Amino acid sequence: MKIEQVLVLIKPDGIKKSLVGNILTKFSESKLIIVGSKMIKVDEKLAKAHYNHLKDKPFFNELINYIQGKVYGEPWNRILAFVYHGECAISKIREIAGATNPEDADPISIRGSYGRITTKGLYENVVHCSSDSIEAAREIKLWFNPEEVIEKLYPVKTVFIRNLKNTIWA
Ligand code: UDP
Ligand code: MG
Repeated sequence: MKIEQVLVLIKPDGIKKSLVGNILTKFSESKLIIVGSKMIKVDEKLAKAHYNHLKDKPFFNELINYIQGKVYGEPWNRILAFVYHGECAISKIREIAGATNPEDADPISIRGSYGRITTKGLYENVVHCSSDSIEAAREIKLWFNPEEVIEKLYPVKTVFIRNLKNTIWA
C-alpha cells in the first residue's frame, strides 16, 4: 500500500470561472482525504520557486503571471491550495485532473472539461497537481508550514526565533 500526499492548487482561472465546487467534487471521487487547505495570493517569489524547473521554457513569464492571477486582477488573483493524502494519491489525483494540455485531456477530467489554451498558447488548465513524490514533498514544504497540515507528513524540527514580527487578532 503506497500512502502518498499530493499538492493540489486551484489556479486563478478556476477561481474566476467559479469552479471550486465542481473541482472539489471531481477530486472527491478519489476517496482521498484533505489534510491541509488555504487561500493564497501568490507573490512572484513563490510563483518562481514553484515553477523553477520550467524557467528555461518560452512560456515561463506567462506562466508566472498566470499562477499569480495577474491577467485577471482583483478579486480573482488568488489560488486555493490543498494537500490530499492516501493510497496512491498522486496517480489518483492526476488522473482526475487530466493531461497538461486541455486539448489532449480526457473530456471527463477537470482539465478536459474546464481548461483552455490562450491565444498566446499558454495552457490555462485550472488545477495544479504534483507530478511525483519528490516534487510533492518539495511543493508541500514550499506552500505549507508544518502546523498548517494536520497529518505529520515529513520530519519537523523546533526552532526558537527571537524578535519575530507577527500579526495576531486585535
Ligand atoms: N504549460 C504550458 N505549456 C506547456 C507546458 C506547460 O502552458 O507546453 C503550463 C501549464 O499551465 C502547466 C504548467 O505550465 O500546468 C506546468 O507544466 P508541467 O509540465 O509541470 O505540467 P503539469 O504538471 O501541470 O501537468
Ligand atoms: Mg508539473
